[in-house]
Amino acid sequence: MQGFNKYYPPDYDDAKHGSLNSYRGKHALGDRARKIDQGILITRFELPFNIWCGTCNNHIGMGVRYNAEKKKIGAYYSTPIFSFRCKCHLCDGWFEIQTDPKNTRYVVVSGARQKDEDWDPEQNGGYAVHDTEKGDAGPSDPLAALEKSTDAQTHLTKVQMPRLESLQSVSEHYNSDPYSLSLKVRKRFRAEKKVEKEKQSVDDLIKGRYGLPETLRLVDDDDDVKSEAKEGWEKGRRELGMRRDAKRQRLSLGTTSLPASSTSKISRSRPISSSPQSRSGQSNDVVTSLRARILENTSRQSKLSSHDQGAGKNVNSRFGVRK
Ligand SMILES: [Zn+2]
Repeated sequence: MQGFNKYYPPDYDDAKHGSLNSYRGKHALGDRARKIDQGILITRFELPFNIWCGTCNNHIGMGVRYNAEKKKIGAYYSTPIFSFRCKCHLCDGWFEIQTDPKNTRYVVVSGARQKDEDWDPEQNGGYAVHDTEKGDAGPSDPLAALEKSTDAQTHLTKVQMPRLESLQSVSEHYNSDPYSLSLKVRKRFRAEKKVEKEKQSVDDLIKGRYGLPETLRLVDDDDDVKSEAKEGWEKGRRELGMRRDAKRQRLSLGTTSLPASSTSKISRSRPISSSPQSRSGQSNDVVTSLRARILENTSRQSKLSSHDQGAGKNVNSRFGVRK
């Protein structure tokens, strides 16, 4: 019997017994600790879910309480795992339920069946939050796994490594001597810039000479372009020369047929009159007609020379010379 009061009997010796419980040979937890030497403590345990008893096959609802034998059977890291052994209240069967610290739940180990009433998000159109089972499970077919790993290995050695090496070599090539590379590039750029500048100045000169707009793009100088332009120029020059020659010829022809002045007529008529065929018969006629013309001219000249004093003298001298 557990000591309910603080009555100290007369033969109680504090130094000898230590406490009233030890005096009476009882545990502080009383009858619940009757199996404490086996590591079992009797505790009140409430069913966390509905179960069916494995012996009598009766349904036992969640929340039914039992005097369960609680025992530490292991540890998940530092968290102890307890087992609760309960005796069915409808029969003589026993069932055992353990804690599962990894998944923070209880599991039925033996003697009963748990009614699965957990909320399954996958079944209800959602996604599983706790996926502790699938993560460690590798591919089921070892040959397929081997093939996969072999393929990966060959891809690594045949494709990925050479590509990586070539990229690395290119990178090293360009990063080995940045100074000289930079120098080369800048030198080339400078030369190009110089040429470009010269071309620009020539273009500006041409534009300025012909009053072309600034935005106009001139054709780049080229051997083909140059030869073409030269051909065109020479052709134009040739045509111009031919046209000039033709004009000159036409002009020279026109002056001979044109009755421009009396002097040209006299000079023209003289060779005719002196020709051997017409000398005998026609000479008199020609001379008379000439005389008549000269007279006419002189009269016109003298009429003009009424304004000009030296005109008549000029005419006479000319007449004398021609004569
Ligand atoms: Zn039962």
